[in-house]
Amino acid sequence: MDQNLQKVIDKRIEKTVENLKKNQMEAYYVQTCAEAVELVDRLCQPGETVAVGGSMTLFEAGIIDHINSGKYHHLNRYDQGADVSRMMRDAFSADTYFTSTNALTEEGELYNVDGNGNRVAAMLFGPRQVIVVAGYNKIVEDMDAAVRRVEKVAAPANVARLGLASPCAQTGECVHCRSKGRICCDYVRMGMQRTPGRVKVIIVGQQLGY
Ligand code: SF4
Repeated sequence: MDQNLQKVIDKRIEKTVENLKKNQMEAYYVQTCAEAVELVDRLCQPGETVAVGGSMTLFEAGIIDHINSGKYHHLNRYDQGADVSRMMRDAFSADTYFTSTNALTEEGELYNVDGNGNRVAAMLFGPRQVIVVAGYNKIVEDMDAAVRRVEKVAAPANVARLGLASPCAQTGECVHCRSKGRICCDYVRMGMQRTPGRVKVIIVGQQLGY
């Protein structure tokens, strides 16, 4: 990447990390997915129970491969024949919950929109720690931009990925549907946390997920 552009991105990441810390979340910046995996390895204890929220980022960053390495007890919703509904409930008592985020503001807040609500619920309460892995492309200026990001990028792309019949799969942007395939039902903004460090955000200096 052009060095001048890299400097601009680095500044945005620094500002975001600083404000996440002010909001009592641990925040890290790593340049590569391999470094993100190394960091996860340090943050989690062997044998602990881990669960994941649906995320392309976790696959792309190699986090899913890592937690499937046998080092942890993974409540693996991707296992053939898994009782996904049961696992979503069991995830609330996991030691670590892995997810990405739909958007991350420079003001240090997370914004997520769910269809089932299981992911945002576990981010809010239950697991001892929540590790959020996000490419720098998830960083936006403020909450208005976070809402726009979900409506114009994250939700339509996820609808297409899941092969749902919601209209944004055709329009490429949210039309505030009431379709059966609607994946936007629960809108959660996470600001300053009461439990310091429960939420840990790893920003990766690569574009990941959507
Ligand atoms: S509300 Fe409907 S149209 Fe809008 S992003 Fe969600 S699924 Fe797509």
